[in-house]
Amino acid sequence: MSTDSTTVVIIIGGGLGGLALAQLLLQNSSSIKVLVFERDEDKNSREQGYCIGLDSMGLDVLTQIRVLDNLLRDESDAVYTLSFFRLVNKYLQKLIDFNAKNNKLIYREDLRQALLTNIDVQWNKRFISYKIDDDGVEAYFEDGTSVRGTILIGCDGTKSIVRTQLIPEFQRNDLRIINIGGTVEQNASLKKIQELTKQSLVRVFGKQGHTLLILPFRQSWIWALSWPEKETHEETNITSLKVIEKAHEYFNNDEIIRLIESSSPSTCIGPYRLYSAACLKHNPFPNNSRVTLLGDAAHPMTTHAGKGANTAFADAFDLANLILNPSSSTLSGYEQKMFKRGFTAVQMSLSSTNMIHSIGWRASFRNSIFFIMRYTFVLINLISIPFRFYKKKTD
Ligand SMILES: Cc1cc2nc3c(=O)[nH]c(=O)nc-3n(C[C@H](O)[C@H](O)[C@H](O)COP(=O)(O)OP(=O)(O)OC[C@H]3O[C@@H](n4cnc5c(N)ncnc54)[C@H](O)[C@@H]3O)c2cc1C
Repeated sequence: MSTDSTTVVIIIGGGLGGLALAQLLLQNSSSIKVLVFERDEDKNSREQGYCIGLDSMGLDVLTQIRVLDNLLRDESDAVYTLSFFRLVNKYLQKLIDFNAKNNKLIYREDLRQALLTNIDVQWNKRFISYKIDDDGVEAYFEDGTSVRGTILIGCDGTKSIVRTQLIPEFQRNDLRIINIGGTVEQNASLKKIQELTKQSLVRVFGKQGHTLLILPFRQSWIWALSWPEKETHEETNITSLKVIEKAHEYFNNDEIIRLIESSSPSTCIGPYRLYSAACLKHNPFPNNSRVTLLGDAAHPMTTHAGKGANTAFADAFDLANLILNPSSSTLSGYEQKMFKRGFTAVQMSLSSTNMIHSIGWRASFRNSIFFIMRYTFVLINLISIPFRFYKKKTD
């Protein structure tokens, strides 16, 4: 790939990955022209009301985007630093804590708004197809318009139209898992939940593959309930009342029932079905010199390992570097690296989805393993105290 003063980068999709790419390009070059096309009518047309967990991979990229400096400051109320990922059983008894000190939670809406700073997104532009010729690529939109560029990046999310044209055989699998989320004001009378969610993201394992994620944010708790589908397209019949019935039936825990009962239906996200790419062993990207993909468009995955946005940011970083320094790598080099990272995350996310929705003996086995791990960690810690004491004295 070669770039010069007339390089025009067409970005399809003004979501997290597309905007991160646009920012990285614009802050590092005044000669590259960056055009972002988004199907939404305007920047407020879609509810983005939930949090994104950022790990060190995502944070390393975001801290390099200048317009995010204020947002990512530790004292900003947009970010929340975590201490633990906590797994608990349906009685809200701790199974195990994993260290989450390098992770932060950020309100998705705040992050997207900050990423939009100084970017002249062209709203209400639904991409439908592209055409490549000898000296460029033309993007076509539903409103009958088109635009010409040097390279086109599909950042159009999990149902990517760019991907459908670039790799027609690529498929997303329906995992037959339903997810619904909500938000509720924190309430001191839910003592166990309050205690467990202190700087922690809590995953509760209920009965028959039902699982609830609870995370604290500002004065609220954000929760997400998911379960393996029982009847075909169960999500079409889910009402607030049914969700409360599920809390009774599959958790049978007073605090969980009250958490869900007191959430206003207006804060609900979903219900929706979960999809994932298959765990591909070979790079499916065709090494097309004018068109490539990034983020969910390239590697759609479930949300259960918290990797989707983080991986999209890492893709954006590598792709921006390549576009800014074309001699440093090739598009196929980017795609190979993005494939490895993206499909490792797809695999990790899928394993996590399967593990948290386990049923029967698998679920009992999972809970026992976490319980044993917890006490093994405690034991190792105890045994190592004299050694640590000795080391401290001799240092
Ligand atoms: C409830 C939930 C919780 C999540 N939690 C986490 C988390 O904790 N950590 C994490 O890393 N990830 C998380 N994710 C995943 C994360 O949100 C995605 O992986 C991330 O947004 C991917 O970024 P993207 O830019 O590839 O796609 P998106 O952010 O989805 O952006 C795609 C954009 O393309 C636009 N678009 C689509 N089609 C067209 C078209 N034809 N023409 C023009 N524009 C188009 C869309 O409107 C959208 O704005 C979560 C997701 C959900 C749903």
